[in-house]
Amino acid sequence: MTGHQETHRPEVIVITDGHPEAGTGVEPWRGTGVARLQEPLAKVLGESKKKAGFAKLGLGTVGDLLRYYPRRYGEPGTMTDLSSLVVGEHVTVMARVVSATVRTMASRGGAMLQAVVTDGEHKLSLTFFGKSKGALHGHEFKLRPGLTGLFTGIVSEYREVRQLTHPDYFFVGVDTENEETARAKASRIIPIYPANASIASWKIAQCVSVVLDPLTAQDVPDPIPEEVRRRRHLVDLHQAFLDIHQPQDKEQVARGTKRLRYEEAFVLQVALAQRRSRAAQLEAVSRPLLLADGDLPSLLHDFDASLPFTLTAGQRAVGQEIAGDLATTRPMQRLLQGEVGSGKTVVALRAMLQVVDAGGQAALLAPTEVLAAQHARTLTALLGDLAAGGLLGGSSHGTRVALLTGSQNAKAKKQNLLDAASGAAGIVVGTHALLSAGVQFAELGLVVVDEQHRFGVEQRDALRAKATKVPHMLVMTATPIPRTVAMTVFGDLETSILREIPAGRAGVVTHVVPAEKPAWMARTWSRVRDEIASGRQAYVVCARITADEPGAGPDDDDLDGSALEGEDGIDGGAGSDAQERPRRPLRAVYGVADELRGLPALAGVRIGVLHGQLPPAEKEATMAAFTAGEIDLLVSTTVIEVGVDVPRATAMVVLDADRFGLSQLHQLRGRVGRGAHAGICLLVSAIAAEELLPVSATKEEFARASPASQRLATLAGTSDGFELAAADISLRREGDVLGVAQSGTASSLRLLRVVHDAKVIGEAREDAAEIVSVDPELTGYPVLREAIAERLPGERADFLERT
Ligand code: ADP
Ligand code: MG
Repeated sequence: MTGHQETHRPEVIVITDGHPEAGTGVEPWRGTGVARLQEPLAKVLGESKKKAGFAKLGLGTVGDLLRYYPRRYGEPGTMTDLSSLVVGEHVTVMARVVSATVRTMASRGGAMLQAVVTDGEHKLSLTFFGKSKGALHGHEFKLRPGLTGLFTGIVSEYREVRQLTHPDYFFVGVDTENEETARAKASRIIPIYPANASIASWKIAQCVSVVLDPLTAQDVPDPIPEEVRRRRHLVDLHQAFLDIHQPQDKEQVARGTKRLRYEEAFVLQVALAQRRSRAAQLEAVSRPLLLADGDLPSLLHDFDASLPFTLTAGQRAVGQEIAGDLATTRPMQRLLQGEVGSGKTVVALRAMLQVVDAGGQAALLAPTEVLAAQHARTLTALLGDLAAGGLLGGSSHGTRVALLTGSQNAKAKKQNLLDAASGAAGIVVGTHALLSAGVQFAELGLVVVDEQHRFGVEQRDALRAKATKVPHMLVMTATPIPRTVAMTVFGDLETSILREIPAGRAGVVTHVVPAEKPAWMARTWSRVRDEIASGRQAYVVCARITADEPGAGPDDDDLDGSALEGEDGIDGGAGSDAQERPRRPLRAVYGVADELRGLPALAGVRIGVLHGQLPPAEKEATMAAFTAGEIDLLVSTTVIEVGVDVPRATAMVVLDADRFGLSQLHQLRGRVGRGAHAGICLLVSAIAAEELLPVSATKEEFARASPASQRLATLAGTSDGFELAAADISLRREGDVLGVAQSGTASSLRLLRVVHDAKVIGEAREDAAEIVSVDPELTGYPVLREAIAERLPGERADFLERT
């Protein structure tokens, strides 16, 4: 107990008008020099203990501190609603002292100070313990009834009363020299910085004051050029810092926030505009469409003639856009967004054939080996004898599809490498292995990246570097991306959208099943049996491979994140976050497979097992057997999440569905109902039946539900991928959205909401394009250039590489 006293001892800090250093023990900052924002905080603030708190917050320089924005503002006279406090949370509240009483504790010895503060309606206790009255450090005199202040600490509950134990506190507008300044102080709104146990909000405010007060506009170089600021009615950076850290009123906060938000969008858009402009200077080989007229054999023409279905209007329209792009010497950079099952593969294959017809090769990059192998099989099957180029019985002008994966046997690999290098293989399919230095192409003309969200900018660039001239690039994603996000994250790509699903798809019905109800589970499995009995197939997806695996798995905080890394997300993904918290055990592939084999309801059902850690040959064999209908039910990890296409599969059961992200579940659901028969998707979750949201839930009910319930209800409520994508993003934190796709970006966006700030992003994009068109390397904009280098380190690396 005694050991804690020191750390908990509150410091009462008094605001004295205009002299923030008074009472803080911090010397005023008299530093000089131009790079003031770069100065280390430790140097400026002195070796005070504040330094330690800032290091924990990751704030090293003056600039870092100024970019540490208040989370909200306390209005003078507006108390915090004390009934809203949540036990266990670190809070800073504004309240008025009602009473303070000291008691000596007979039983334990020592003294206790109990103060009560109020928001006018609800109450909160403040409790201090000391060995004796003297050890209460005089709080009993400082906590004078009637004073209003900020109180900060972790909310606990004792005998049903909420309390803060040994809170830090700070009174607003007292002890100033005269009444006038006191009133002026008291009428200001008070910045409240993100709650943090290592440093109190008002200490941050004081340190901000120490670094900000001596600065003039000249000390704060502004990345937004003046002409842009004028056009968009934005204050300069120095004023923005004053506005958000030391506002007089809400209007100033709004003004500063508007400017800083714009800056985030602007810096990002300038970087993307530079990327576009650099790409535009590169040259590609034109691969015009061959018009087949008897004399000129055309793979594309023969392929179209052999297709067993007619292309959808969307496939034709997008096909024309792509064909047009490929015909120019400007490297195509196109993002093809298409709902799950919308038929992107055919669109991509037609583009590849156009390139092969025109003497080039195409590479198709898939995120997993399973998917690469499946793509190779699908393409080969779709091409029929057109894929037997050079082989006996093949079409005279056919080509070859080569599969290259990291774990292929040496012989197959050697042959495929040779085919890629000689050009015998017009189409080369693979995973990251295609990026390795050993892979050569004779004439790489087109790179198709399937499932963009798993590929970073760097990987795209690495592959592009494999051709003497820049290959055209088509990026496909089944996770529809709202327009603003596309503009922000993929701002260097042009976008095509496939909204239509080919006719004749029966669709998928989705139900949420509470795992706690045995009767529901029994119905789940008998439903699966019914599907299989009528000649169809089922997937059962688990979050883990084996039961003893440490906490790897999808996670509320991580949503899709864990599935983005390795060969197949959950298997390979590290669940470091999950390891820190005890969690209920997740159902695992082997355990579930055993259980299902023992279920009388599933007697006679052929059950297979698939996950990312199986040897590649076994993975392929299992997938092939499932495709061929030799396996009825596949118990699997999310390795089947993306792109796996077995039209006969109609049932999808996801166990621990509450632990998966929205778009991941949508992807999984997209694996069924791909043929003429309706699919059924059963999302089994640990959420209690009464906590599940009905599809008819009101907005308020929805808002109150847990994120997992929200996700499941959203998913059951719609199958429109575009609607889901928007919902997904609004249910996530912003950083996740961007972090996944563009490293370095997440940390640079604090105020910008990519979903909601469409207008800002659009304006920033215009301004950025204008500046970059005149001054592509930003020689006239050194501050802006520096801001890009700092916030988007990837962009700088690219830049160096290219010059
Ligand atoms: P995704 O866009 O999810 O990658 P796929 O390209 O895998 O979708 O296509 C899904 C299924 O639809 C495949 O079996 C494919 O052969 C089929 N398909 C594609 N286009 C059409 C079409 N126009 N009409 C009917 N079926 C189609
Ligand atoms: Mg696909």
